[in-house]
Amino acid sequence: MGIKTVAVYSDADKYGRHVRACDEAIYIGPSPAAESYLVIDKLLSACRQTGADAVHPGYGFLSERTTFAKALADEGITFIGPNAEVIRLMGDKILANRAAKEAGVPTVPGHWDQIPTPEEAVEIANGIGFPVMLKAAAGGGGKGIRIAHDEAELKEAFRLATSEARQAFGDDRVFIEKFIEQPRHIEIQVLGDKFGNVIHLDERECSIQRRHQKVIEEAPSPFLDAATRHDMGMRAVNLAKACGYDSAGTCEFIVDQRRNFFFLEMNTRLQVEHSVTEFTHNIDLVEWMIRVAAGEEMTIRQEDVQPHGWSVEARVYAEDPNRKFMPSTGRLVRYREPIESDEVRVDSGVYEGGEISMFYDPMISKVTTWGRDRDSAIALMRRALDEFYIKGVHHNIAFLTALMANPRFLQGRLSTAFIAEEYPEGFAPAPLESQDVDSIVAVAMLMHLRYLFRAKEVSGQMPGYGRRFHPDWVAEINKKFYPVTIEEHAGRGSEEGFDITRDGRILSIRSDWVVDDPVVRCTINSVPHSFKVERVGIGYRLYHLGAEVDVMVYTAKVAELAKKMPERKPPDMSKYLVSPMPGLLQSLSVEAGERVDEGDELAIVQAMKMENILRAARSGKVTKLHANAGDTLSVGQIIIEFEQ
Ligand code: ADP
Ligand code: ADP
Ligand code: MG
Repeated sequence: MGIKTVAVYSDADKYGRHVRACDEAIYIGPSPAAESYLVIDKLLSACRQTGADAVHPGYGFLSERTTFAKALADEGITFIGPNAEVIRLMGDKILANRAAKEAGVPTVPGHWDQIPTPEEAVEIANGIGFPVMLKAAAGGGGKGIRIAHDEAELKEAFRLATSEARQAFGDDRVFIEKFIEQPRHIEIQVLGDKFGNVIHLDERECSIQRRHQKVIEEAPSPFLDAATRHDMGMRAVNLAKACGYDSAGTCEFIVDQRRNFFFLEMNTRLQVEHSVTEFTHNIDLVEWMIRVAAGEEMTIRQEDVQPHGWSVEARVYAEDPNRKFMPSTGRLVRYREPIESDEVRVDSGVYEGGEISMFYDPMISKVTTWGRDRDSAIALMRRALDEFYIKGVHHNIAFLTALMANPRFLQGRLSTAFIAEEYPEGFAPAPLESQDVDSIVAVAMLMHLRYLFRAKEVSGQMPGYGRRFHPDWVAEINKKFYPVTIEEHAGRGSEEGFDITRDGRILSIRSDWVVDDPVVRCTINSVPHSFKVERVGIGYRLYHLGAEVDVMVYTAKVAELAKKMPERKPPDMSKYLVSPMPGLLQSLSVEAGERVDEGDELAIVQAMKMENILRAARSGKVTKLHANAGDTLSVGQIIIEFEQ
């Protein structure tokens, strides 16, 4: 749009991509958001310093703070978002529910008032009927939300929701509503201007969530019929009009299995998942936010809104699907994004060599794809995820890829309980499919020979190697041994590829892969394949369509010796409580000498704005505390020792 831009950054984001993308960048303080991104005065002074005349707040942080919008207005700076009054109204879920009801939008049965004590919470919940949901009035991003099925759960949920809300939002008011079972989350994008025009840009389905946080979003929803879509859209527009909404915003609804929909909340900002609507509606929402903030009248009319095709977004998180999606931190040792095109979009703020810190949300990147129909958008997403290579932190790419192949997902039978139901123990990469053995063995052989050849080229390494090529090799996968024979010329560098004989079959592998490239693109018997690959110790790890496999390659002679190697057993850690994630030890609930029972609370660890309770796996006696409240913990760090 030809507008010059200024970035603000904290210590942790010194080398952030947004810093380099903008024309200027202003440092606003230490990494904890409370000391930088959330300090209104620092943002105001960055504006004064640079002469910025408008601020786009993005999502999170101050994007939904009335005080921020007001403070900017007092300085004569434009807030690129709705007016302060509507932020105040909608930013408070209690007031928002009341406003929705007044505007004729169906709401979830609930008690829209602050609940002061756990005892009152119990009384109210009994009135509404369990299960209920406790929510922070100021909540967002899935934080400060707890489900309770009975009184005991409710009392604990009250304590946690209150404390999480205070931590995350500086406002500990919570309220109660009915928990709708097996619901879908479907939301309507609205867009308004300062002339009272409001339109909607149809829906996004965001039912694939974990911890009330969206993971996969798509537009349109595979569930809505035209009548429900129209009804939801018009009610969202009515609510927006009733409260004077004048920017891009989202009305979130919870939809039950019979397509009854209820107002959840209105987000008075750009959504993370706005990219799917941008694809299906061929519109730039941020551009429109800027235009209407500048006082332009909207030129799009409701009857011009015409969606086309299908779009899916996958959020790449730094978390370990294998350990119940615990957040993960660390350095992005390797970071390679899929290639962007007219149908593939990658939004991210990270870079190779950068760090995923414990200070902010664990989102690394978002991948959005577009296709003529749902199947083609999903197929394109699978391919894009197969090209996304991240090393250094745990991430959910294999999990996202598996979701894209999950039969229930493909049928569009979604609910917000989808992940919990389909992956109750978290997600472990699928085991190797037997029909893939051929291609896995072939790729491992290709990699191994290219590594050997490179080592041979380095003077002084492996003297004498290569004078004679041994044709007999063995791949070891999950303790099974697969012998093969490799054709002679493979020993001379094998630039194009070579032929492998396995069980009497020929596997002809061809590839221009070079050592250290994280993706092997090859053909095996003329069929194209791509694998993400890593060298792990002296072996290879291959990733393909959400599956992960470790392969060792030996000469026939070494394979015989490898079969005799004893298995290495991990040390017995059962008498320790270790930290499952990097984070801050918020509190210890036990003392040395104390006896605990199974299920007792031992400690609370705070990471990425979430509070996680660690509980006793069985009863026993605490002998020693190895950490103190306030300590920063790494993964696997010992917190408490028990009697053996
Ligand atoms: P946030 O502001 O954190 O996004 P929301 O009110 O939008 O909070 O709720 C987040 C998610 O929690 C929803 O997408 C939905 O999955 C779930 N949820 C919220 N309210 C209910 C409810 N009454 N019944 C069932 N699930 C709910
Ligand atoms: P560590 O105890 O440091 O984890 P190992 O005991 O597994 O390492 O191996 C020590 C060294 O021997 C490493 O440099 C490794 O690359 C090499 N090595 C291990 N196994 C084999 C093998 N089967 N063939 C050749 N080298 C090996
Ligand atoms: Mg929400």
